[in-house]
Amino acid sequence: MVRKVKVLFLDRDGTINRDIGTYVTTREQFQLIKGADVAIALAKQAGYEIVIITNQAGIAKGIVTPEQVEDIHVYLNELLAVRNTSFDRSYYCPTHPDYPHPEYDRFAWCRKPETGMVDQAVADYLSSGVEVDKMQSFFIGDKTVDVECGLRAGLRPILVRTGHGEEELCHERRITPEFVADNLYQAITEYVLLNAC
Ligand SMILES: [Mg+2]
Repeated sequence: MVRKVKVLFLDRDGTINRDIGTYVTTREQFQLIKGADVAIALAKQAGYEIVIITNQAGIAKGIVTPEQVEDIHVYLNELLAVRNTSFDRSYYCPTHPDYPHPEYDRFAWCRKPETGMVDQAVADYLSSGVEVDKMQSFFIGDKTVDVECGLRAGLRPILVRTGHGEEELCHERRITPEFVADNLYQAITEYVLLNAC
């Protein structure tokens, strides 16, 4: 019998950390949104795996390097360690359709709203003997592409009003999240943890 896990797939910029209007390149620019770390700790305690799913087209644009992105993720886990928690996996997509790049164009399948990063995470869990229970798994983000990615991947999408907070745009495009929260803390404490199957 394959063990099943429930996962919170989390967008990064504007959901976990403040959107600074450009790509985060340094640890100093990476500032947690209030309560995000506590919320992640509570979700982990409730048995959720935490997986970061982030578009980082700044790589193809030459603004940020893969090494910088990876260092920021190390830093995020250092910040989460203060709350005795951590994220489990992270995936970033380096491409942008307007910035062709010989090294990164082969990753176009992963840019949200494409589901490539979620699919890869699901495959990686499976190869470690664990099946992602999509009915119990959520995708939380601040943009329409996050909600759309969650829907396409068969996950339960939640929009947060931090970052870009694209509530209007979701409505216009009829890309409907299951819930809209003021921030990640509210999404997790007032919805995810109360609505687990
Ligand atoms: Mg975002």
